[in-house]
Amino acid sequence: MEKEASKTGEICIICDKQKDQGIHLYTSFICADCEHDIIHTPTSEEKYQVFVEKLKRIKTPPLYS
Ligand SMILES: [Zn+2]
Repeated sequence: MEKEASKTGEICIICDKQKDQGIHLYTSFICADCEHDIIHTPTSEEKYQVFVEKLKRIKTPPLYS
């Protein structure tokens, strides 16, 4: 069996899907598809605001006790 950490992928914070390819932003993971989407979405589009809201999770992680 292969190491899980490097092969099973991670959960993307944008689409909440498990992906193998993507980038790490601090402790979070953004899949390559969403990264591409973010880059190619104009900031004036409503969709971009959705991304921004999700990206806020990176800077302000939910507080678990
Ligand atoms: Zn994604």
